[in-house]
Amino acid sequence: MPNKKLTMSKVHNFSAGPCILPKEVFEKSAESILNFNDSGLSLIEISHRSKDFIEVMEEARKLVREILNVPDNYEVLFLQGGASLGFLTAAYNLMGKKKTGGYLITGSWAKKAAKEASFMGNSFNVASSENKNFNYIPKGYNLGDNIDYFHVTSNNTIFGTQIKKFYNGNIPLACDMSSDIFSREINIKDFDLIYAGAQKNMGPAGTTLYICKKDILGNSSVPIPTMLDLKVHADKDSMFNTPPVFAIYSSMLNLRWLKNIGGLSYIENQNNLKSKLIYDQIDNNSLFEGTANIEDRSSMNVTFSLLEQDLNETFEKMLKDASINGLKGHRSVGGFRASIYNAMPIESVSILVDIMKELENKKG
Ligand SMILES: *Cc1c(COP(=O)(O)O)cnc(C)c1O
Repeated sequence: MPNKKLTMSKVHNFSAGPCILPKEVFEKSAESILNFNDSGLSLIEISHRSKDFIEVMEEARKLVREILNVPDNYEVLFLQGGASLGFLTAAYNLMGKKKTGGYLITGSWAKKAAKEASFMGNSFNVASSENKNFNYIPKGYNLGDNIDYFHVTSNNTIFGTQIKKFYNGNIPLACDMSSDIFSREINIKDFDLIYAGAQKNMGPAGTTLYICKKDILGNSSVPIPTMLDLKVHADKDSMFNTPPVFAIYSSMLNLRWLKNIGGLSYIENQNNLKSKLIYDQIDNNSLFEGTANIEDRSSMNVTFSLLEQDLNETFEKMLKDASINGLKGHRSVGGFRASIYNAMPIESVSILVDIMKELENKKG
């Protein structure tokens, strides 16, 4: 008899985060809570120092290396605290003699990241797109020579913009990659530190992935509290203290899934197809307009709105009838946001696009 509890409902979840994961990942991680690896024990009651869990941690770290093609002179760590603690961790670990971090202010998360640098140094706004409610990525800015590192946010989850080309000069580059890590091919060598909260495109909330160049470790100009010191975690193979075992296990399963379906080149192509479907509909449909500057449009979070506000109610009812969840835009932008992370099937995107078309037909 099929286990009813494991049967997933047919809701199309466009939520910005926590986000959807592949069905098989939900199923296998659910199993692990009751009986992990046929041990008769739950994943969440075994020692994190047991052979079974160490294998999970090692496989998760190895999959990150394989999928992202991480060179040997980089560390891969699964820590805690979310990307929000990453803001502070990045600043502590990268602060140099100039005691200043440079920040590209492309959204609310970027602003929050910049704020944390002031706890042990200064933060300098290199450029900002706040004047247009963050609907574009500033370009052609000058970094000057007064910063120790340059911090960017690869994908602005709330505003639907994404950096297409990363800085690759001499100043160490730090990147909050929470909402588009594993969505496209990147060159790890462009970065000195990458961090990403799991719950957008990697796994459940509870773990944060750090990828950092080994030679930044132990070189900060400021004293670092133990738990924020990446060298402490690297020296202990990401097991300095009890890791969030469930979040790491589920992330590992999701990375296995990603590797099996063809890795980054495959998923990048899929993500481009999915986002193009919606952007084409936005551009060709007389009722909608896109929120983000066209050349900076995100392939993960598609932001748009209805030109006539009085159609909102009808559109929202149609979405609800089609079991589409999580399409409401963030309160600071309004309108709608379709978050189409790796696990979002193209079939669900087509259903959304059909509803947008149907609304136009009804109206016309
Ligand atoms: C969601 C998000 C964050 C915050 O992540 P937490 O893990 O909740 O701290 C930071 N940066 C970006 C780009 C995000 O999308």
